[in-house]
Amino acid sequence: MISYDEAREYVLKDLRPLAPTEFELKDALGLVIASVVRAREPSPRFANSSMDGFALRAEDTANGEVRLEIVDTIFAGDVATTAVETGEAARIMTGAPLPDGADSVCMREEASVDTEGKTVLIQRTVKLGEYVHLVGDDVNVGQELVGIGTVIGPALLGVLASQGIASVFAHPRPRVGVLSTGNELSDSYDDLGAGMIRDANRPSLLASLARSGFTPVDLGIAGDTPGDITEALGRGLRTCDAIVSTGGVSVGDADFVKSVLADLVGDSARSMQVAIRPGKPFAFAIDPTSGTPFFGLAGNPVSTLVGFELFVRPALRRLAGQSELDRPTASMILDCPLPRRRDGKLNLVHVTAQLEGDGRLHVKSVSRLGSHLLNAIADANAIAVVPDGDGLETGQEVAAMIIDTDRLNGV
Ligand code: AMP
Ligand code: MG
Repeated sequence: MISYDEAREYVLKDLRPLAPTEFELKDALGLVIASVVRAREPSPRFANSSMDGFALRAEDTANGEVRLEIVDTIFAGDVATTAVETGEAARIMTGAPLPDGADSVCMREEASVDTEGKTVLIQRTVKLGEYVHLVGDDVNVGQELVGIGTVIGPALLGVLASQGIASVFAHPRPRVGVLSTGNELSDSYDDLGAGMIRDANRPSLLASLARSGFTPVDLGIAGDTPGDITEALGRGLRTCDAIVSTGGVSVGDADFVKSVLADLVGDSARSMQVAIRPGKPFAFAIDPTSGTPFFGLAGNPVSTLVGFELFVRPALRRLAGQSELDRPTASMILDCPLPRRRDGKLNLVHVTAQLEGDGRLHVKSVSRLGSHLLNAIADANAIAVVPDGDGLETGQEVAAMIIDTDRLNGV
């Protein structure tokens, strides 16, 4: 048996980000940038009003009360043509360019216009620059907007769009093939034959991939024959950046994934017994021609999902160019016991965590242990990482990876 750290290091050591290419901005959410992007324009592009009101010269209001002549009305999208001279003001709408001569805005709520609409009474001193958004307030021309390694989020997308930048050079989202192996597996919604079960792993892995921002590719079900598995893996190698299979990596008489892998990619194929529970048997290989990594996860559905979190997801994030590979892990307070037995393995236990009034994350419930108990973990939002020992008591702390950051508030 090897430790989790050793297995993880083995997986990550030869993986590099996928070659970057150009992406249209609309397809770039979540991608990792591979070349610096600089601002083409200042933002704001021109000095403009941040309020509906009156553009004026602040010095005219120095004495606290002044009546100004209204010389123009400027809407957003207009070009102001009349300059504002001393003693004058222009009606201005939010986002409209400040006219020449004006340096400040008095908001409409603080101004009273005469009945004919020709003059406006300003009854307080307006500060220089008040309610004006200045050129380059947010961005200067040439400024670095995006550094290498930056992950494109919604706000950054908005910044780039506002700069008229149509595409970015970024690492692609890995396309990841998912293959279930097992003679017992079926996709049928109808009655199953004796001894058959429905495939749970492929749907949950395809969903896990999508949720983590990768592109899932369904490679179907392969029977427990070297021919079937070889054909499916070959298909995956031709179309995917990575392949994940489940089942067939253990020591059973129908566990062919390891031998097929060795035939396909030779020496790089390695099957490991990792000191974790669940998910001990694990196969990994990198295709020497294409560099495509292959992950062979154990078939029990909980083992599959733990293997995804521990090995696959960090590795795929490396391919995607991400520098943060892991889920956030926090020390959480146990509001219930976390039983385990001493077995020389790191235990990965699905739990539900909740942010409490003390500002801390608390473990509210612990899933029943069992690598086949998929329903028992279906509601979990974290995986406790429990070192070998005799379990933990209520009130003790445990480190847990948060796998669903959107559901920490409880119900
Ligand atoms: P294996 O790793 O192939 O020895 O499978 C271990 C256990 O997980 C067996 O009970 C399988 O029937 C079950 N299993 C394997 N693959 C799947 C799957 N895709 N969906 C549900 N159960 C599975
Ligand atoms: Mg099997």
